[in-house]
Amino acid sequence: MTGLVDSHSHCTSREFDADRDAVIRRALDAGCRAIVNPATNLQDSREAVALADTYPEVFACVGFHPHDARDADEKSLREIEELSRHPKVVAIGEIGLDFHYELSPRDVQERVFRAQMEIARRRDLPVVIHTRESTPTTLRIVEEYAAAKDWRARRLTPDSRHSLPKGVFHCFSGNLEEAWQAIRAGFMISFPGIITFKNAGLAARVASAISCEHLLLETDSPYLAPVPHRGTRNEPAHLPLIAQKLAELQRLSAEDVARATGYGAYRLFGIGSVGPGRFTYTLRDSLYVNLTIRCNADCVFCDRKGEAVIKGNNLKIDREPTVEDIIREIGDPRRFAEIVFCGYGEPTIRLDAMKEIARWVKQEGGKTRLNTDGHGSIINKRNIVPELVGVIDAVSISLNTMDPAQYGALMQIDGPRFFGAMVDFAKECVARLPRVVMTIVDMPEVDRERAREFVEKEIGATFSARPYF
Ligand code: SF4
Ligand SMILES: [Zn+2]
Repeated sequence: MTGLVDSHSHCTSREFDADRDAVIRRALDAGCRAIVNPATNLQDSREAVALADTYPEVFACVGFHPHDARDADEKSLREIEELSRHPKVVAIGEIGLDFHYELSPRDVQERVFRAQMEIARRRDLPVVIHTRESTPTTLRIVEEYAAAKDWRARRLTPDSRHSLPKGVFHCFSGNLEEAWQAIRAGFMISFPGIITFKNAGLAARVASAISCEHLLLETDSPYLAPVPHRGTRNEPAHLPLIAQKLAELQRLSAEDVARATGYGAYRLFGIGSVGPGRFTYTLRDSLYVNLTIRCNADCVFCDRKGEAVIKGNNLKIDREPTVEDIIREIGDPRRFAEIVFCGYGEPTIRLDAMKEIARWVKQEGGKTRLNTDGHGSIINKRNIVPELVGVIDAVSISLNTMDPAQYGALMQIDGPRFFGAMVDFAKECVARLPRVVMTIVDMPEVDRERAREFVEKEIGATFSARPYF
């Protein structure tokens, strides 16, 4: 595994005094390309900055942990703000509230937390949040700051639908509702080795339900060593064990998790880069073909015109690939479970190229799938389904919602007209093609059960719901 980012490792901890250099080298050998070192108090912040100065791969956070909040006077907070100007400081952290140990009184914790949120806002830096038995209060406070228009409002690309992430809830211990609340407020979530524990319960459930796009990897070294090292000193070299577990929970490959969370670290901390635009990319064991980023719709949840990144794969291409480009990149299609025409765009806009590639894939013994908005017949001004017979094995159609008006609002198109066309297309596909799946975005506003019934009973396709977050 390569390209991993340990977003939370206390390498400055006294536990590493004897062998810190070896610990960092082992992490790099294990595939970590960056380590973010959060601080717990003023002295630790100074040491974090010094460590980041020593190793190009180490980045620092500065701040007072809630345990140490009682030591944070005005002078030391001023120094935290000064330290935050260092170019290797990527966040204010770790800050927050801990009502479990309450090593500092609650009112002091809250005062110091707010003072540091102000520093983050003035410096336009993200925050690394620690919460324990305090998630609702912490969420309330970060939501106040997240609403401020002058904090992390920048966009990575001019047309992006999302501003920069505002921070991360590290070692997340809340429930799924709270995780979504944090994500809606612009935060990311991370889980250390606890997801590898037998009794991982809630953390594992939350980690499997949230799109990888909102997750980071962390070890929280020297604490919480993952299985099979549980109970011993943790170190960032153990990060692949956590990535592997997260991949299982996410039903992705470990490489997918490394790439997606690496991109998350880039958006949050500015570490790394986005990588060049891709004509093809892998997810799990399939190869995805990015024929175009043009689309006839403009879904409110789609960032096609903005960052156009899917699980760390940059799909922003400056020209559309030729049939030959794609065939060259596929190589032997039998290496992949499926060749999927997908990408951030509507593949049927390039129907002829898609059919030619698909025909070749079938000849070579591969399998094909089309992911589509179901508007291909309107786009091409004829019923295109007969042309897919024999070249496309499976079709996944975005149903999005059952309500034509809501469909139009979500996709920013003429709802009734395109909804009707999509349903006709789906019925045609069911009649002629081996496998048809219809997906909805699992949003509270969308009636999932009604959609399932419609897909299964009226259309005769397979139903699937994908998470909105
Ligand atoms: S149909 Fe797909 S590619 Fe087109 S705007 Fe919607 S989500 Fe994006
Ligand atoms: Zn920590």
